[in-house]
Amino acid sequence: MTEPLTIDSSCTACGACLLTCPEHALRPARHRPWVLADACTSCGECVEICPADAITMRDERAV
Ligand code: SF4
Ligand code: SF4
Repeated sequence: MTEPLTIDSSCTACGACLLTCPEHALRPARHRPWVLADACTSCGECVEICPADAITMRDERAV
């Protein structure tokens, strides 16, 4: 399954992205959140809020 974004190992599991996502598409997990691909609208708000720059939109990587 293609995910709309990736969260890399620099994630500190701070939880900021979970609170920010307007679609509640990010769900907590043991080490780092995971994204519900069906719910994510690729709005980019989680990328903006992440203090660790751990989130990369797949679209950005494709450019
Ligand atoms: S905001 Fe960034 S560092 Fe914090 S939990 Fe989300 S991905 Fe991890
Ligand atoms: S890109 Fe937007 S909708 Fe998708 S997980 Fe991040 S904040 Fe939520």
